[in-house]
Amino acid sequence: MLVHEILESLKNQGRASFSCEFFPPKSEVGEATLWRTLDALQPFNPDFVSVTYGAGGTTQDVSLDVTAKIVEETGIPTVAHLTCVGATAEKLAEVVDRFADRGIRNILALRGDPVSGPGSPWQTTPGGYTYAIELVEMLASRGDFSIGVAAFPEGHPESAGLADDARVLAQKQAAGAHFAITNLFFDVADYLRLRDLATEAGCTMPIIPGLMPVTNFGQIERFTTLSGAKFPQHLVHEFERVAEDSEAVIELGIDVTTRLAEQLLAEGAPGVHLYTLNRSRSTREVFTRLGHS
Ligand code: FAD
Repeated sequence: MLVHEILESLKNQGRASFSCEFFPPKSEVGEATLWRTLDALQPFNPDFVSVTYGAGGTTQDVSLDVTAKIVEETGIPTVAHLTCVGATAEKLAEVVDRFADRGIRNILALRGDPVSGPGSPWQTTPGGYTYAIELVEMLASRGDFSIGVAAFPEGHPESAGLADDARVLAQKQAAGAHFAITNLFFDVADYLRLRDLATEAGCTMPIIPGLMPVTNFGQIERFTTLSGAKFPQHLVHEFERVAEDSEAVIELGIDVTTRLAEQLLAEGAPGVHLYTLNRSRSTREVFTRLGHS
């Protein structure tokens, strides 16, 4: 099923979407963990799941395989992430055709992070794309895809400001995008600011908040550095108080994500997308507390 049709149908029923994100496993053990996680999450009937796309060739093949297997074996609508990193337009069109051949019709069209890591300057591959919107245009012209894009509640690190990000979202929708999923964030006000600016810019597609339940203290620094998201000081203090107790950190991560999700849904967010890190416990617990079980 196409994700934007699912979102439309849920909206008409007055319901929010519940979805989660996985990364392609790097080993057999990792693959077993992912399948255990999927098994554990299936009773929660996620409205869709998504699988990230790595920068290297082998990882990209794993992304395609895992995404296709999830579609084939679970029937859960699955979004394949796709980036412009290191690929010509021709190569990207081939990848898109391979996705379509394996029954993948939902694609999150991304530019991707620069090869030398987030924060370093982006270099366009000769014959490739400079901005994700070009990938959106290609997908829209190539078939009947449900096209998602990235959104950044705190602003994309390279953008001149949030109003620019909002304009880019509206342009992507005009180019064929159907929905957006946000980078992780921890302050509801950031999401609402982006959403309101996007609406002013003419963007009407659903912008689904992406939330990450913290499961260990070290993760906070690692992920905020990688994603550029800020971690509010009051939450740093809450986590510092329980930092020595790994079980209490997981519980607090679940509490914080549930709180954020409840506030976002009350403010009219179309759904909640959880970054699972291929583990099910926090996602199951957040879904349960939100009444999605
Ligand atoms: P773009 O839309 O190209 O934007 C990049 C910058 O250019 C922004 O500052 C934007 O404001 C500006 N810009 C965009 N269009 C124009 C234009 N037409 N003219 C001028 N300026 C413009 N990375 C991966 O490698 N693999 C993944 O699987 C992955 N999944 C992600 C999932 C989500 C939900 C999110 C939020 C991010 C994900 N990323 C992933 C990271 C993402 O690829 C990077 O954050 C990347 O830097 C931005 O991607 P984008 O698609 O927003 O790029």
